[in-house]
Amino acid sequence: MHIPEYINAIAAGDDEEAVRIIYDNNPFPEMCGKVCTRRCETVCVMTHRGAEDDPNDKGAIAIRWLKRYATETAENADIIKEIINPDIQEPNGYKVAIIGAGPSGLTVAYYLALKGFDCTIYESHPKAGGMTMYGIPKYRFPEDSVDKQVEYIKSIGVKFKFNTTVGKDVTFKSLYDNFDAVFVGVGFQKAWTLGIENENAPGSIPAVEYLNIINSGDSYDVGKKVAVIGGGNVAIDGARVSARYGADVTILYRRRVVDMPADWEEIEAAEHEGVHIEPQTIPTRIILNDKGRVKGIEFLRAEMVPDDKGGRPRPVAIEGSEEILEVDTVIGAIGQEGDYTFLPEDFKDKIVVERGRIKVNEYQQTGDPKVFAGGDAVNRRADAISAIADGYRAVKAIEKFLLHKEI
Ligand SMILES: Cc1cc2nc3c(=O)[nH]c(=O)nc-3n(C[C@H](O)[C@H](O)[C@H](O)COP(=O)(O)OP(=O)(O)OC[C@H]3O[C@@H](n4cnc5c(N)ncnc54)[C@H](O)[C@@H]3O)c2cc1C
Ligand code: SF4
Repeated sequence: MHIPEYINAIAAGDDEEAVRIIYDNNPFPEMCGKVCTRRCETVCVMTHRGAEDDPNDKGAIAIRWLKRYATETAENADIIKEIINPDIQEPNGYKVAIIGAGPSGLTVAYYLALKGFDCTIYESHPKAGGMTMYGIPKYRFPEDSVDKQVEYIKSIGVKFKFNTTVGKDVTFKSLYDNFDAVFVGVGFQKAWTLGIENENAPGSIPAVEYLNIINSGDSYDVGKKVAVIGGGNVAIDGARVSARYGADVTILYRRRVVDMPADWEEIEAAEHEGVHIEPQTIPTRIILNDKGRVKGIEFLRAEMVPDDKGGRPRPVAIEGSEEILEVDTVIGAIGQEGDYTFLPEDFKDKIVVERGRIKVNEYQQTGDPKVFAGGDAVNRRADAISAIADGYRAVKAIEKFLLHKEI
């Protein structure tokens, strides 16, 4: 990630050099500057130096903010192009198909195109960006931020086939037969169901579907009161978007607030915007009005029970603690999963899906040497920078596979 190098460049007042350094292995510095989960900051040496009660201990260096600062000095794609000015190698004759225009697929396309590969991305949506375009709300990551980075990727020769779903509009086999390598970066598009009564009734919607509607420019009437089920960033996004519609929003979460997987900054921002968090609550059923629409949600209170095996405490429902929260909309945000129905049966012995994820080796290569995979469909970290890192590794592996270059 060259973190010390670009921080030094910023400190020396050379923001352009900082951007150039960042682009060396991350084609989405602007995205990371705005929404990265900043894993680097938890391992930053400054986090661990000095005692927590030492007033001089300032904690981790704000690496994400520095990245944001550097990239915001390069205001549009043309300037970025001028700053980083990469050498684009002569076409090498190899064609690579990429399924999915999320951060992993776009990273593969960007670095392979620079190395002379002919890349085509197949994408179901009308625009690129994956969950960073259709999941993350625009107030956190504006659409033009994604667009200008995608325009730049197009400008170096990457071809996009939008509104094209592999497995429906084009077969996986045809890509496999007509390209020299295939990268699968399909992410996790399907929401987990809540598994409670009436969850398919009007007024009950999964968060990823809800955010997809809003981010596509359409509207969704959430009414006056909303319950969001879950404790991760997706739940917080669903809650904050609803609050911005003027709704009175309550998050129901099984564990304690300290256990919420969402970024603490996001939790604080949600509370600041009036979102109420009801921890240690387990939804049991959705209640409907006489027209069959959501009118409330029933939940049980939970107590936290220590885990015998040393894991984190578990929420256990307290019998007889039922309560009903009157709401117009229930938004489920308890997780997502991959949809691999595009994979034909005769590929499934080599391209193996294990516990919901595509199995790869350390170079993102599946059991079929011609097929590589990365991003949410492969790793357990579920964030943009991990998808970018997978894409970067896959580029090296595809070069090794086709050009016999050492990694
Ligand atoms: C609401 C929300 C908020 C988030 N907030 C953050 C955040 O703040 N910070 C962060 O780092 N991460 C965040 N994430 C996670 C981050 O967006 C993902 O980890 C990242 O986008 C994964 O990249 P990917 O390339 O694996 O897949 P995706 O971004 O999911 O992209 C996959 C693409 O593949 C396409 N596709 C799928 N199947 C097919 C097919 N058969 N044919 C053609 N195209 C197909 C999809 O349409 C999609 O565009 C958030 C996610 C969500 C849902
Ligand atoms: S991309 Fe994210 S994890 Fe990587 S250095 Fe930047 S802020 Fe840290």
